[in-house]
Amino acid sequence: MRHIVILGGGPAGLTAAIYAARANLAPLVVEGAEAGGQLMLTTLVENYPGFEDGIMGPALMQAMRKQAERVGVEFITEDAVAVNFRQRPFEITTQSGHRLEARAVIVATGASARLLGIPGEQRFMGRGVSTCATCDGFFFRNRDVIVVGGGDSALEEALYLANLAKSVTVVHRRDRLRASKIMQQRAFAHARIGFIWDTVVEDILGDGVVSGVRLMNLKTQERRERPVDGVFVAIGHIPNTALFKGQLELDEQGYIRLRERSHTSIEGVFAAGDVHDHTYRQAVTAAGFGCMAAMDAERWLQGQEP
Ligand code: NAP
Repeated sequence: MRHIVILGGGPAGLTAAIYAARANLAPLVVEGAEAGGQLMLTTLVENYPGFEDGIMGPALMQAMRKQAERVGVEFITEDAVAVNFRQRPFEITTQSGHRLEARAVIVATGASARLLGIPGEQRFMGRGVSTCATCDGFFFRNRDVIVVGGGDSALEEALYLANLAKSVTVVHRRDRLRASKIMQQRAFAHARIGFIWDTVVEDILGDGVVSGVRLMNLKTQERRERPVDGVFVAIGHIPNTALFKGQLELDEQGYIRLRERSHTSIEGVFAAGDVHDHTYRQAVTAAGFGCMAAMDAERWLQGQEP
């Protein structure tokens, strides 16, 4: 049995692990089959403090993982597929059938990009469909791309892509953006960014790679095809909490609801990072939440029977 098992190997999980290891709690991190979290999908990170010239997302995660290993953190590079927080010790089952027992658990499973769920989206993922302009924008230099969504993420993607692509068209389902005023001003002022309003993407077309989209205007029901080389989906994120439904209290959007500080609705289960935070969603805040959860868990464990 473990003092503490941490679910998730992004900045929140790894920071929690480093703190827990240094508090002599011998943490085990179930880091997921695709370890490292969303930073693995980014390129240059310029806002994580301590790196004068910025650092590539995957390099930052590699450094965090090495630091965790050096202080004695152990890892299982698999997904957790089931948890039982109704019994003590808590039980976690991983993909290959490992059964882990823990006195305390820190949930740091993060969030994933929301997808449209339309035909072609999965088939063309990485072949013209992307959820990350900073990762894939480079492949669309001097090409025509669309960005789907009307929030800050969509405009951030559009502004990034506008420096590379020939044209960027934001396709939004309403006639008004949800994004902040400053982002709207920047996007409207950019010569290479255009907008298509009241419209959804119904289908992604192509033979091997994306060559176009079928759009539908929601007001007129008019359908038309538009040739494009890339489709960037930027319609928000969904927290990775399917595993905890019915066991931890979640909010309407599925994010873990915290009680006091990092405590969840179950005593001894803590949460850190994007899995509960839909406001800040930064690597540095996730790391900060990881530190807090580890300190809360350590204090909580101290108050329990050995
Ligand atoms: P968001 O604010 O929830 O916006 C999601 C957008 O996608 C909305 O415009 C929504 O349309 C649209 N959408 C959702 N589902 C859709 C679907 N199935 N089909 C078509 N369109 C769909 O998400 P976000 O842009 O990722 O931002 C999340 C949070 O992070 C926000 O608080 C944001 O301010 C923050 N953020 C900030 C920055 C920045 O400041 N630089 C950058 C990124 C994110 P409706 O408008 O019709 O609902």
